[in-house]
Amino acid sequence: MTSRGVDADVIVAGGGISGLASAWGLQQRGVRVVLLEAAPRAGGTIGTAREHGCLLESGPNSALETTPLIGELFGKIGLAGERIAARPAARKRYVLRAGRLIALPLSPLAFFATPLFSAWSKLRLFKEPFISRGARDAEESVAAFVRRRLGTEFLDYAIDPFVAGVYAGDPQTLSVKAAFPRLFELEQKHGSLILGQLCGARERARNPETSRQAAAILSFRGGMQTLTDALVRQLERVELDSELSSVLPQQTGFELVVSAASGPRHYRTRAVVLATPAPAAAQLIAPFAARAAAALRAIPYPPVAVVAGAYRRDAIAHPLDGFGFLVPQREQRRILGTLFSSTLFDHRAPQGLALLTTFVGGMRQPELALLPAGEIAELVQAELAALLGAPARAEFVRVTRWPRAIPQYTLGHLDRIACVEEAERDLPGLFFCANYRGGIAVGDCIKSAARAANQVAAFLGMGDNAP
Ligand SMILES: Cc1cc2nc3c(=O)[nH]c(=O)nc-3n(C[C@H](O)[C@H](O)[C@H](O)COP(=O)(O)OP(=O)(O)OC[C@H]3O[C@@H](n4cnc5c(N)ncnc54)[C@H](O)[C@@H]3O)c2cc1C
Repeated sequence: MTSRGVDADVIVAGGGISGLASAWGLQQRGVRVVLLEAAPRAGGTIGTAREHGCLLESGPNSALETTPLIGELFGKIGLAGERIAARPAARKRYVLRAGRLIALPLSPLAFFATPLFSAWSKLRLFKEPFISRGARDAEESVAAFVRRRLGTEFLDYAIDPFVAGVYAGDPQTLSVKAAFPRLFELEQKHGSLILGQLCGARERARNPETSRQAAAILSFRGGMQTLTDALVRQLERVELDSELSSVLPQQTGFELVVSAASGPRHYRTRAVVLATPAPAAAQLIAPFAARAAAALRAIPYPPVAVVAGAYRRDAIAHPLDGFGFLVPQREQRRILGTLFSSTLFDHRAPQGLALLTTFVGGMRQPELALLPAGEIAELVQAELAALLGAPARAEFVRVTRWPRAIPQYTLGHLDRIACVEEAERDLPGLFFCANYRGGIAVGDCIKSAARAANQVAAFLGMGDNAP
C-alpha cells in the first residue's frame, strides 16, 4: 500500500471526453490535476479501430459543432488540421415508412410533396401556432409534447426515429424539458414551435451557439478517437487501469482510494471531479450523499450494440446517398437505424466497399443488444438485406456491445440533477461532470467540461487564470 500525501489540487475520475476535457481545462489554468481512468485506455465511449482497411467507430461516429468552444478546443490541442467535415451527400437522411426508405424533406416545398406524412398531418400544422403552451412547471414526456403540438404522425415518423437516433431512447419516457430544452423553451417563449422557428432567426444569428439542425457535422481523418488521444497526450498525469474505488470527505479536501493491479493507492486532494457514468458515481458517493446516490442510480442506461458491416458497394441496391436511415418504432423492425458511414466521411472504407454502421437495442428493444454478438450480426445482416437490398452476407462484420450505453433524461431527470447539485453545495470541492448532465452529445460534454473546469478553478481560487 502506498500513500502519497497531497498529490493534486484536483483528481478527475473518468477518462471519457467529459473527464479529459475537464482535466485539460483545469491544467490550462495552472491547476495540478491527475486523471484516473479505470480501463486500460482512455476515451470511454469514444473508440476508433482499423480493420480490413475500414475505419470503425465503436461509439460516436461524428460530432456536431453546436458551440464555438468545440472549434476553440480543437485549435488549442492542435487538431484544427485533422478535423474533417461530412460530405455534402450526407445532407440527405432517410426514414423508414411502410418498409420503404423515404428522404426527409429539406425544403418547405419538399415537405408538402413528401409521402412521409399524410395530407391531414401537413394541414394540421397550420393549427400549431394556436395551441396554447404547456405550464412551465409541468413536466411532460417528449411524446405527449409532440402529440399535443404536432400530432401523432409527426411523433411516429419524425420525432420517434430522431429520439432513437440520438438517445436510443423512447419518447414516451424522455422528459421534453430535460432531453430537448431548446424545444421546450421555444414553446415557452413563442407559444409555438413554428412561430418560434420563424421569429427566432434574428435571435439565433446573435447567439454563438448553433442548433443541432444547423450545426456542422465533423469528425477527424483518423476517427473520433483522435480527439481523446490528443487530450491524453496534452495531460501531464493520466493514470490508466486506475479505478477510483472510494472517496472520503475530510475537514478540508478528500481522501481517495484507487484500485489498480499493483494494489490500492491512496491520494489526498482538494477537489474531486466525478466524470464517470452515473452508476459508478452513485457507488462512490453513497456513504456520504445518499439522496444524490439514489438519484444517480435512478438514471436508466439501456444497452446498445453497434454493428459495423462492410459490403461490396456494387452489391447493394440502395444508392446510399445520404447520412443514413432511422427506423420508427411503428415499423416493428429489429434495428434502430443505420449510418452510411462511407458516404458520411471520406476514407472510411477502401475503394469498392461500403461501410454501414447499425445500432440495435436501446430503450425500445434492450434485449436485442444483449444477444450473443453472432446473433446480433445475423439479425443486422438480415435487416439490411431487406431494407437496402444488401447481400445476405457482409464482407466482414464487427459487433461492439455497450451494456450501459446512453443515460436517459426521463421524466424526473431534472429533480435527480437537483439532488446532484445539492450534493455539490453540501460538499464543497465535489463536482460531477458527465453525459447525464448538460446533454449527451460529444459537443455537450465539451461544453459541460468547460463549465466544470471554471467552477473547480473558482473553488480553488484560480478562476482568473482562464486559458
Ligand atoms: C453507441 C453510441 C453512439 C453514440 N453516438 C454519438 C454521436 O454520433 N455523436 C455524439 O455527439 N454523441 C454520441 N454518443 C454519445 C457520446 O459518445 C457520449 O455521451 C460521450 O462520449 C460520453 O462521454 P463521458 O466522458 O461523459 O462518459 P464515458 O465515455 O462513458 O466515459 C466515462 C469513463 O469513466 C471511466 N470510469 C468509470 N468508473 C470509473 C472509476 N471508478 N474510476 C475511474 N474511471 C472510471 C470509464 O471507464 C469511462 O472511460 C454515442 C454514445 C454511444 C454509446
